[in-house]
Amino acid sequence: MELAVQQAREQGSCYGSGENAIRPNPLVGCVVVTPKGNVYTSYRGKKCDGDEGRNCANDHAEYTALEKLVPQGEHVGATVFTTLEPCTRREGNAVSCADRLVDAKVKRVVIGYLDPDDRGHGISKLADANIELAFFEPDLMNEIRKLNQHFLDSRLASSLCRPWFSEIERACGNKIKILGDLATAPKMKRVGKYAFPPELNEPYEKNVRRNEEQWGGWIEQIAEFKSLTQGGSVIEYEDYDYLQWKTLREAGRKPRAIYAGAIVVCADTGSIYVHRRAPDVATEPNKLHSFAGGFIVAHQNISDETLLHACLRELQEESGVQPQFAETRVVIVENLDIGWIDVMFFGGTIPDSHVQRLKGSREGQVVPIPFDEIEKSICHNKDNWVISGIAHHLIWLKLGAPGAPSWFRQKNAPMLYKNICQWLTPSESSRPS
Ligand SMILES: [Zn+2]
Ligand SMILES: [Zn+2]
Repeated sequence: MELAVQQAREQGSCYGSGENAIRPNPLVGCVVVTPKGNVYTSYRGKKCDGDEGRNCANDHAEYTALEKLVPQGEHVGATVFTTLEPCTRREGNAVSCADRLVDAKVKRVVIGYLDPDDRGHGISKLADANIELAFFEPDLMNEIRKLNQHFLDSRLASSLCRPWFSEIERACGNKIKILGDLATAPKMKRVGKYAFPPELNEPYEKNVRRNEEQWGGWIEQIAEFKSLTQGGSVIEYEDYDYLQWKTLREAGRKPRAIYAGAIVVCADTGSIYVHRRAPDVATEPNKLHSFAGGFIVAHQNISDETLLHACLRELQEESGVQPQFAETRVVIVENLDIGWIDVMFFGGTIPDSHVQRLKGSREGQVVPIPFDEIEKSICHNKDNWVISGIAHHLIWLKLGAPGAPSWFRQKNAPMLYKNICQWLTPSESSRPS
């Protein structure tokens, strides 16, 4: 493993790394140990005999090792150490490294870091071909991450469309739509007042009177989603009041109110925590869902609340604790059945010591789900879940389970993601039991 990291570093000294690199390519080292005990080392772009005058910069480390260094036939049964997850797609007709490893009939692949680039993800292909998989030790993983920080950052940049959006949408029966995968939460910008349909004025007035009797007349101003603009950095909204939203829902419409929420992870107890909605809520009673609550507009013109504030306030109300965010990733999901727009924060954790403070509210209960029961909870009780809640958890797994311990993030999360998607996707006939 260390030898492979050394090779990655050597690539850095040949080609530069980080912002100084010729291109923001990852530094990748690869070591092949054949059954005879011979060791072959390479890195991305390594020049071998016969490469004089050739530009090798885009030769993947695995390619160079398997095609140029290891003698014919010696691949079979070999162990391959690679600092980055092998790729599954290359530009043009080039064979991907995952396919190459499968064709070479290697026995075992030890991976340093999972590739956030969507052309990575060779792990499932290797697993399907019954190649043994293992991962580098955590210290080395950290070192690889540091070596590749610039590359990783460039791949984590915000995007309004990623190839996996449609995979998750299909798994959720196309009842949800993913609007963006963002590095930070968008800013909220009010663009006007919601045009409430006049034909619903009568039922609205009725709701207002009932609200006065029950709650003394106080009504929250909430936000109706208009658009995600400026590359995902701004959400434009119109404001309306909660009773207008309620009236629209009762009339069978799908107002797109904006919610902020989070997946809550406790690494110490090895669980995630979700919300069971109270039996008397108007929408999706009794169902499991992520913690998420309506974005409240504070003033007429500017909202003094950020989406992260809304998320933390909601978590405090519904679970009694506020998660800590060491890293954040924000994904926006639209529930097409209901209209909810959920701005979900990933990477929130709570320490062991806060677990006993978790408590439900009038709105619902806190339900722990141990990591090893996530698949069962979703696949065996799909109808117990709000569909967008399932989507949030698939996204969390797809992002590599931010907040979870590294053993879970590297190995279990990709497997769970694959299993759950397969189970839920209607066209798929092979279902894991
Ligand atoms: Zn490759
Ligand atoms: Zn709430």
